[in-house]
Amino acid sequence: MHRFDADTADLMRAVFDATRLRLGFDQVPLDGPATPVELAARVGRTITPGGLGGRRALELFDEVLARACISADHPRNLAFIPAAPTRSSVMFDLLVGASSIYGGSWMEGAGAVHAENEALRWLADLAGLPVAAGGVFVPGGTVGNLSALVAARGAARARLLAEGRPLPSRWRFICGDEAHSSLYQAAAVLDAEIVPIPTGADGRLTGPLLAAALAGFAREDASAARGLRPDGHDHGYGDDGGGGGGEAGRDAAALGVFAVVATAGTTQFGVVDDIRGIVDVAREHRLWVHADGAYGLAALAAPSARVRFDGIADVDSFIVDPHKWLFAPFDACALLYRDPAQGLAAHGPQRAAYLEVLDSHTNWNPSDYAIGLSRRARGLPFWFSLATHGTQAYADAIEVTLATTRAAAAQITARPELELVREPELSVVVFRRRGWTDTDYQQWSSGLLRAGFAFVPPTRVAGEAVARFAIVNPRTTPDDIGAILSTML
Ligand SMILES: *Cc1c(COP(=O)(O)O)cnc(C)c1O
Repeated sequence: MHRFDADTADLMRAVFDATRLRLGFDQVPLDGPATPVELAARVGRTITPGGLGGRRALELFDEVLARACISADHPRNLAFIPAAPTRSSVMFDLLVGASSIYGGSWMEGAGAVHAENEALRWLADLAGLPVAAGGVFVPGGTVGNLSALVAARGAARARLLAEGRPLPSRWRFICGDEAHSSLYQAAAVLDAEIVPIPTGADGRLTGPLLAAALAGFAREDASAARGLRPDGHDHGYGDDGGGGGGEAGRDAAALGVFAVVATAGTTQFGVVDDIRGIVDVAREHRLWVHADGAYGLAALAAPSARVRFDGIADVDSFIVDPHKWLFAPFDACALLYRDPAQGLAAHGPQRAAYLEVLDSHTNWNPSDYAIGLSRRARGLPFWFSLATHGTQAYADAIEVTLATTRAAAAQITARPELELVREPELSVVVFRRRGWTDTDYQQWSSGLLRAGFAFVPPTRVAGEAVARFAIVNPRTTPDDIGAILSTML
C-alpha cells in the first residue's frame, strides 16, 4: 500500500473530484474565451518561487482557466471539427499520464506499443491494408501528413538514385484545391511545391484530373528538355503529351512529383476524393498515394459510409485522427503505412550512440515512423476505449452522427429561410441563411457563444459567409440542431 502525505492525499482527492464532476455532467458547460488582461486580473501571478500549493492552483484552473476554454465535447459545439471522447478514453488518459510510459521505443514501452499497434491494426483492417502495414500515433493530422510526405519523397528519391536517373531540381506533390491547410505547411517544411488541382463544383479530386495534371507536367518537362537539349532526355516520359512512356515506364518521380494526396473527407465539406480513380492513375505512374482522412476516414467504421472510400485499400499511407471522429481525447493521429519499411527509411532510427541499444532492426520503435523522438503513448486512450466498448459501438456511434447529419440537412431543406450549399457526404453540413450578410452571421454566432448555447462560427465559401455544422458527437441530437436553426429566423 502506498502512503501519501496529507497534502498529496488531499490533492489527489481534489483532482479526482474535479474529474468526476467534469465527466459526470449530463451536459458539460460550453464556456468561452477571455482576454489575456481579464485572465491575468483573475488569476494573478501563478508561477512563484514558493508555489501556490496544489489546492490553490487547482482552484484557479477550475474556477477561471478551465472556464475560459470552450468545451470541444459540448453537443452544440459544431465548430471546425470538435471532439467527443468517450468517458472510458478520458479516464484512461489519466492513468496513461500517471504511468510514466515512454512510448518512443519498444524496449521502453513494449506493452503500450503493443496495445497501440492493436488499435492501428483495427484501422488498417478497416481500410483493407495488408498484414505488413503498420505505423504510429502522432500528435495530429498535421504531423501525420508531414511524416507521410517525408516518407513519400524519400521513396521517390531513393528509387531514382537506385535506377541511376537524375534527381529533379524541385519536388512537388499534388492534391485537390479543397485539401487541408496542413498540406501547405508540409510543403513549406519540405521546401517542396504543393500543386492544388482545381476540382470544380463537386470539390473532388478524381483520377482523370490527376492524369491531366501529370500529362501537363510531362508536356512542360518535354518542352523544357527540347529547349535545353535538342535530343531531349529520358525521364521515362514521352514528349507526346504524357500518353506514352519510355522504356523505364512512366514514373512521376522523374517529373519531380513524389505524391498525390487524396483527401478522404475535406474539413470544410466532408467531400471524399475519388480514391479509386486516383489510385489507378497513380499506379500507372509509380506515384505514392497518401490519403488525408484526419477527419473523414473514421467513417470507414460505419457501414453506410464505407462505399465512399473505395480504393483506400490500395493507398501507400493514410492518416485518421481519433481525436476528431473516433471518440478519443486530444491529441492523437493514427499514421499508417502500407509498407512500414518506407516510413522507417525516412524517419528512423535517429542516429545517436546512446540510442543504439534500442535496436531498430528487430524492434518496432514508434519513433522510427514519424517526426519526433520522445513520445507519449497517445494511442492508449483510444485503444482502451476500443477494447472496452468493442468495435460495434464505434460503428453504431458514427452511424448516429451520420443520421443526425441527415436530419440536419432535412431540417435545413424544410425551412424556407435556409438553403444547403451542398448535400452533406459525411457529417459536415454547410448552409446559408438567405439574405444574411457577414455581419449577421458574426453577430448570430457570437450571441450563441456568449449565451453558452452553441458554438457555430461561420465559414466562407467562394467569398460568401455561410453557416457550417460539423457533427462528430453522438450526443448531438436532431433537437439540438433544430434549436440552433430556430435562432436564425
Ligand atoms: C484536421 C485536419 C487535419 C489536421 O489535423 P490536426 O490533428 O488538426 O493536426 C488535416 N487534414 C484534414 C482533412 C483535417 O480535417
